[in-house]
Amino acid sequence: MMEQASSVVIVPGYGMAVAQAQHRVRELYDQLHKRGVGVKFAIHPVAGRMPGHMNVLLAEAEIPYSDLVDMSEINADMGQCDVCLVLGANDVVNPAARFDKNSPIFGMPIIDADKARTVFAVKRSKNPGFAGIDNELYFLDKTWMLFGDAKVVVGDLVKNLQGQGEGH
Ligand code: NDP
Repeated sequence: MMEQASSVVIVPGYGMAVAQAQHRVRELYDQLHKRGVGVKFAIHPVAGRMPGHMNVLLAEAEIPYSDLVDMSEINADMGQCDVCLVLGANDVVNPAARFDKNSPIFGMPIIDADKARTVFAVKRSKNPGFAGIDNELYFLDKTWMLFGDAKVVVGDLVKNLQGQGEGH
């Protein structure tokens, strides 16, 4: 599906940092670029566990800064996004922030991953993120869960695109 996409948006979160998956992510970025797929990174200001966490990791993997897009800017384009890859992010893409007044994250701006045509969400389990709450994004018909460590899953995606593996 990513190969066929015109536009892929990757939303990195704390799980990418835990897995140290940024170099595999760079390989995925390269594979998709080679095929003419547009790839952008949606950067939430509190993704991870410290300010600028995602920028630091993606810069370490030498992902061009011009492809890192702030939440406020990328949200306008999420409706045209073919595939959104949510990579170890949870609270920063939780739609409950928009409507659930009882949620601890109510009112927090989020990245509108749920507006993409298809969502792939990579995490290891059904456990919640930092805020300790469920995320309905994972239960949408358009969402595919790819359970596993982010580095392993993205590595498998890369191998698949390189034609060397079975995929995930
Ligand atoms: P979250 O903590 O909401 O979610 C991270 C997700 O990553 C988890 O659901 C976890 O699921 C998954 N994960 C953990 N390890 C791995 C792994 N090895 N491979 C794949 N997935 C993994 O992170 P977000 O970045 O979405 O949000 C950040 C949260 O931290 C916000 O609530 C924010 O307010 C808070 N915070 C941010 C600070 C900052 O300055 N950036 C500072 C303090 C708090 P599973 O266990 O199933 O794998």
